[in-house]
Amino acid sequence: MSETVLFENASVLDTAAGAIAPGQRVLVRGGEIAAVGPDVAAPEGAAAVDLGGKTLMPGLIDCHVHVNAHTADLAGLGDQSPAYVAVKASIELREMLHRGFTTVRDPGGADFGIHDAVAEGLIDGPRIFFGGKALSQTGGHVDMRPRGRSVSDDHQCCPDLGLVCDGVDGVRKAAREQLRTGAHHVKIMLSGGVASPTDRIDSTQFSLDEIRAIVDEAEAANRYVAGHAYTARAINRGLEAGVRSIEHGNLLDESSVELFLKHDAFLVPTLVTYHRMAIEGAAYGLSAANLAKNELVLDAGLKALELAHGAGVNLCYGSDLLGGMRRNQLDEFTIRGAIIPAADVIRSATVTAARLLGEEGRLGQVAPGAAADLLVVDGDPLADIAVLADPGKNLKLVMQGGDVKHGTLA
Ligand SMILES: [Zn+2]
Repeated sequence: MSETVLFENASVLDTAAGAIAPGQRVLVRGGEIAAVGPDVAAPEGAAAVDLGGKTLMPGLIDCHVHVNAHTADLAGLGDQSPAYVAVKASIELREMLHRGFTTVRDPGGADFGIHDAVAEGLIDGPRIFFGGKALSQTGGHVDMRPRGRSVSDDHQCCPDLGLVCDGVDGVRKAAREQLRTGAHHVKIMLSGGVASPTDRIDSTQFSLDEIRAIVDEAEAANRYVAGHAYTARAINRGLEAGVRSIEHGNLLDESSVELFLKHDAFLVPTLVTYHRMAIEGAAYGLSAANLAKNELVLDAGLKALELAHGAGVNLCYGSDLLGGMRRNQLDEFTIRGAIIPAADVIRSATVTAARLLGEEGRLGQVAPGAAADLLVVDGDPLADIAVLADPGKNLKLVMQGGDVKHGTLA
């Protein structure tokens, strides 16, 4: 059991209100936040920690990471040893935690094994909300075969990010296979993507009947469907069929925005991944064809964020970085911060993300009853969002469930 800690002289970042309250005391007990206020009394035996006015905020939530993707060469990933990939994932998970992410959602690759390893405290890492393998049609975004190959090996132990399934019965079974492992959502490919060998960005993937069958299965299990999509055509098909979150969404338009609002759906932009791929994707194994597709979606993504934000669409933080580019996970803050207010960027990585995960009130807020996932930050991220992007300089403490994971209480 974690110790009882009283943070004093804390500037508490209220993520819902988008404001900072100085001079607060925050009591952490039993892994949870027990009390917040200027006059919270210190219980006997509590360790008092004077923050000297530093910012105390909830741990960050990244709604789109791939813990298995230690390389950008996703086609080769399935040929690697799952043991090797798991060890690589454990290293990256610890680094994510040290960047300030106390929770991540993995829409492709992470399975119940890596989830349990973190939950049991075997390895340090963010809390993981996983989808198992992402579902794709033949020739879709996770069909990694080159054109000349017809066989594929999608044994569940291969560390690929996804699997191929077709037809209403086939996709239903594939969804049930993910859900039976305890998946928190089912991820599907609604359009082509950048890092796949044979599909087009502007394709739509899966028939409407297939999408509806997957949504049916997820909802039957009280889970939801996350859909990868770029174009308005692909996004709108997904939203109309009941997909709850759209991943990327770079080429959305006004008609998509209306559907997001109508269905109270979520958009998870992942701008930093296109930004990094343009800079160093080739060095990380992306082909010339992949890079050409990347260019198509990069600029459009910035406009999409502006359009969706202006209309009040639920926005969640996503990075989607592959390989060594994952070190840039925090750059999404500065990229978004150049377009929309800092308070809204922070909401996307805290309260709104928590709502997507079904963890409202427990994650993403400094409030009584919430998990004690807390960051101590030197600086005011509302005044300058870039404060969050430089953890080496500004991130003084990472607490998760009341346990110190990075930095010290002294
Ligand atoms: Zn992804």
